[in-house]
Amino acid sequence: MAQGAGRVKPLEEARAEVLSSVGLLDVEEVPIWEARGRILAGDVTARENVPPWANSAMDGFAVRGVDVADAGSVLDVIGDLPAGSITDAEVGPGQAIKIMTGAPMPAGADTVVRVEDTRVDGSSVTVTKPVETGTAVRPAGGDVAVDDVVFAAGTRLTPMHVGVLATIGVGHPLVYRRPRVAFMSTGDELTPPESPGLAPGAIRDSNRPMLLSLLEDTGVETVDLGIVPDDIAALREALDQGSKADVVVSTGGVSMGDYDVTKLVLQGDARVDFWQVAIQPAKPFAFGHIGDALFFGLPGNPVSVLVSFEQFARPALLKMQGARAILRPQIVARAGEVFDTDPEKTVFVRVLVDGWEEGIPRVVRSGAQASNVLSSAAAADGFALVRRGTGQVGKGEEVTVEMFKWPESREWADGR
Ligand code: AMP
Ligand code: MG
Repeated sequence: MAQGAGRVKPLEEARAEVLSSVGLLDVEEVPIWEARGRILAGDVTARENVPPWANSAMDGFAVRGVDVADAGSVLDVIGDLPAGSITDAEVGPGQAIKIMTGAPMPAGADTVVRVEDTRVDGSSVTVTKPVETGTAVRPAGGDVAVDDVVFAAGTRLTPMHVGVLATIGVGHPLVYRRPRVAFMSTGDELTPPESPGLAPGAIRDSNRPMLLSLLEDTGVETVDLGIVPDDIAALREALDQGSKADVVVSTGGVSMGDYDVTKLVLQGDARVDFWQVAIQPAKPFAFGHIGDALFFGLPGNPVSVLVSFEQFARPALLKMQGARAILRPQIVARAGEVFDTDPEKTVFVRVLVDGWEEGIPRVVRSGAQASNVLSSAAAADGFALVRRGTGQVGKGEEVTVEMFKWPESREWADGR
């Protein structure tokens, strides 16, 4: 069969095939200090209430609500409660205990009057406003209650999740192991990014630093196999070394060129498939196993690397770490201009949000769309998906956008 004569796979079919060969990694306990980005291997159930006891939301006076329903009540102050201390004293009718934010409510009291609504006079306090029963009291378990399932298995831990785990005393959450991912760039033309100059015909290796960053964002451990020349022996050796990891990712050498060594080396291998996927960019893609490692053979052009990493490798890496959500968030946006695309493919148009139109974000191209133009990917907030069989999105029409970043600045929202 001629190279590339195989059927062109739709994106969804290709991704489903990738994901079906991805299993779950082992689990381990990690210190909470290292838990960000890890994925919970079991439901987390609270063993204690947060807060553990009712406490004051304000600096003020703990009182009985019935005593302060009307303005002008005068109460005896019988004690003082800073945060972290407790008291045996009980607030009786006509009494109050001075209380600081966070201190446990004393027995008898059900309401806190803020300092601002009082006037102190020796050992008595006058409440200057009517106050409703229950005001400024944080109930026990008001944040998290005992036996609540706080987070479900498969949750990817953000800094906020880490904080909540801390409040319920989970110091060593059970999470999935991080996969070890070996990665390499292939190509005789590649020069390391640190190199001061470029020889004629050479280009800088942008894929590898970008890939390292993409991998780190996916929470995995990385093994850098460097730049591998278009040489069969060198590539075999690099792949062999990579196969000791859980996953191997390479870039370049999978399309139809004479020097596509990745293809030359792996084409006869029954465990690696060379696909043509009906997407643009990133049509050629190799996938399979090398030894026990999962193998992703990404194309060479940097934007193709980004797209195939995002569509295939990232969901697979999240799935093996047990994540429930493995795809980027999608929004419906309005096209700020016409997107003309190849109807045979699902096209990933690099777009940025440049404003609002009729209540939804408006997107426009973030720059030139050729697969070597990485600067427009850096300027983009996401990919507008012009699906196979569509071919065009008209100006003002709705389009799905897969967001890989959200604009931090409000400049665009302010219409500037
Ligand atoms: P290939 O499929 O290996 O022929 O690569 C396709 C295109 O991507 C060629 O123009 C390469 O020079 C370019 N390319 C391959 N690898 C990299 C890389 N690591 N960094 C930047 N460009 C690359
Ligand atoms: Mg190449």
